Amino acid sequence: MSALDELRAAFPDLVTDPDILLSLARDSADLLGDDKPGTPLAALRPTSTEQVAQAVRIAARHRVPVVPQGARTGLAGGANAVDGALLMCLDTMDRIISIDPLNRVAVVQPGVINANLRRAVAEHGLFYPPDPSSWEISSVGGNVSTNAGGMCCVKYGVTTEYVLGLEVVLPDGEILRCGRRTTKGVAGYDLTRLFVGSEGTLGIITEITLSLRPAPPESLTLVAMFPSVRDAGTAVAAITAAGATPSMLELLDRVHLRAIEAYRPMGLALDAEAMLLIASDSAHAAADLAVIEEVCQKAGATEVYVASDAEEADALQGARRLSQPAMKKLAQTTFGTDSGEVIIEDVAVPRSTMADLIEAIGTIAADRGVVIGVVGHAGDGNLHPKILMDRANPASVAAAKAAFDDIMAVTLSLGGTCTGEHGVGLLKREWLEQEMGPVGMRVHRAIKAALDPENLMNPGKVI
Ligand SMILES: Cc1cc2nc3c(=O)[nH]c(=O)nc-3n(C[C@H](O)[C@H](O)[C@H](O)COP(=O)(O)OP(=O)(O)OC[C@H]3O[C@@H](n4cnc5c(N)ncnc54)[C@H](O)[C@@H]3O)c2cc1C
Repeated sequence: MSALDELRAAFPDLVTDPDILLSLARDSADLLGDDKPGTPLAALRPTSTEQVAQAVRIAARHRVPVVPQGARTGLAGGANAVDGALLMCLDTMDRIISIDPLNRVAVVQPGVINANLRRAVAEHGLFYPPDPSSWEISSVGGNVSTNAGGMCCVKYGVTTEYVLGLEVVLPDGEILRCGRRTTKGVAGYDLTRLFVGSEGTLGIITEITLSLRPAPPESLTLVAMFPSVRDAGTAVAAITAAGATPSMLELLDRVHLRAIEAYRPMGLALDAEAMLLIASDSAHAAADLAVIEEVCQKAGATEVYVASDAEEADALQGARRLSQPAMKKLAQTTFGTDSGEVIIEDVAVPRSTMADLIEAIGTIAADRGVVIGVVGHAGDGNLHPKILMDRANPASVAAAKAAFDDIMAVTLSLGGTCTGEHGVGLLKREWLEQEMGPVGMRVHRAIKAALDPENLMNPGKVI
């Protein structure tokens, strides 16, 4: 029996319709180069770990590659189909299995949408901090698999800080349970962290045990406008040096302010070169913001104000979350709906060198003749330079690719990393190699070979 026949016999709902498969073939990344998604064999929407394991066993027997998919909001091509693959669409496994307020633990299936989990735990006075801008559309399984970050990670850390344990279907179909439910625990190798951020290349995560925090007090939000992006970068370093611990420290440059205002008008100041959006959720939020305000003014801010109420603060944070669709719209307006694209970088540098990186990006944009907007989790030194590109124009694609490479090179030279939160996927493979060096890559490949000797689990991604 062929792989397809066997899968069909086991799963009558197996998706083989070519149009549906095409619609599932890629994530949200605009990729450089020729990394077109492959043509999948079929897609499965499992409802249980046992179904995932059974399908993986069939696939392994027939040497069919398997591509795990969450909500396909990824920005590195990690969930893209490869030729002949079984797509494992985990959006159907979307149950919050339990919330345990006493131990501050939640157990969830991977398809739960991040914001739904946040809302559910809030009903118990609890807080699940990781908050990617995609929180209303991305899945917790995808967040764990990419070790996603977000706006409040400057204070609370990224996804991995909250993952206590996992259930994983390994590439041969065996089911591994690793990690714990306890606050402390050091038994054995830290397999849980090995799977966090592994982008579906080592196994399929089918259950996640998460640690939660008590809900923080309501935050206060401050906005500071700067005459140059470098001044804003300097203010970020000075805020940290002053000992402040903001719960959000985001940067938007002029390109983004204009793009967001055009996408959804909300009165953002368009004459500034950069804006910092800063929040504090500590018990002394007003005093914290007073210190931060002074630091921003010393760094050259032309205007600093505190949001008058929660509604205004939400609107400002909402504007920041619109940066990606707003830039996409700008690219389409500039180059046409079909060919306007945005290549998103996701680089991170030590905070002390962020102003240098920002300045270098400005030079790269001028030298390569491309528009690059910069937005990011500045408090983490994690920036998302976004390069506008006309896919239909080879010169524009070449210039965008050159600018992308330039930004990667300068980031690594500043002691940074090629990806702060989006992952390697297809987009950053060659840069991972440069960052890791030969020994780092040998260890990566040895781990992959130990768990997936036939290279069937999301092949071609990451390494
Ligand atoms: C508008 C927008 C804003 C964004 N903002 C942020 C941000 O602030 N911070 C951030 O970190 N990211 C951000 N992203 C990127 C993206 O949302 C994250 O990478 C997210 O974690 C992906 O989740 P997903 O459910 O969409 O996963 P997918 O895109 O479906 O998959 C991502 C990777 O994880 C693997 N995977 C998914 N589920 C599983 C599973 N259960 N088991 C094993 N492997 C799995 C896939 O194979 C793939 O390699 C943004 C994206 C968009 C479109």
